[in-house]
Amino acid sequence: MTRTKPVDSIQRRGLMLVLSSPSGAGKTTISRRLLERDDNIAMSVSVTTRPMRPGEVDGRDYHFIECERYRTMVVEGELLEHAKVFGHFYGTPKAAVEAALAAGSDVLFDIDWQGTQQLANSARKDLVSVFVLPPTAVELERRLRARAQDSDEVIAGRMAKASDEMSHWAEYDYVIVNSDLDASVVRVQAILAAERLKRERQVGLFDFVESLRQTL
Ligand code: 5GP
Repeated sequence: MTRTKPVDSIQRRGLMLVLSSPSGAGKTTISRRLLERDDNIAMSVSVTTRPMRPGEVDGRDYHFIECERYRTMVVEGELLEHAKVFGHFYGTPKAAVEAALAAGSDVLFDIDWQGTQQLANSARKDLVSVFVLPPTAVELERRLRARAQDSDEVIAGRMAKASDEMSHWAEYDYVIVNSDLDASVVRVQAILAAERLKRERQVGLFDFVESLRQTL
């Protein structure tokens, strides 16, 4: 007798989950919690030419590289997307993302609206984009100041850029107002759970249904 294939053997196409927000809206904390709670999603570690901040680890937070190496990566097509943000260059290494997706893992990106637009142009079907908004402007400024890692000048620059970044909210699939961290993490998990069930991502469904029907 033909056996129905086990339901957990249905092959799924990996997705690319982008979280964008003005800095200070809580996106980094949401990402960290999501990674702790979900074994099937891996963080994409970007390259950047900006200097390392205290507490950051090379290879974990970013791959910190020289401008020359960055230029080579752009020219050689080694980056999935790249952009200049706050006067420094950032980019997503292609190879690591492709390896994670091929291994059946989803990939989480903490990138800005410019990078998201590029991914939307090159890989729309695999992209799920989420924009995180701060609950109030006052709270955003408080969070930026609480970090105290950057100079006043840098913070002022970021406040100005925040409004710029926020103007792109409508280009995203989902929008979360981060007034409660735990609730926001649960919301991102809900988005991920639903997107993983999209019919077109469950590439093994055809075989699964065929084997179901053969056993009837
Ligand atoms: P930070 O320097 O504070 O870590 O990041 C500054 C901004 O750069 C954040 O909005 C972050 O999302 C964005 N960013 C980080 N990595 C990348 C990347 O690889 N590509 C793009 N387009 N933006 C990035």
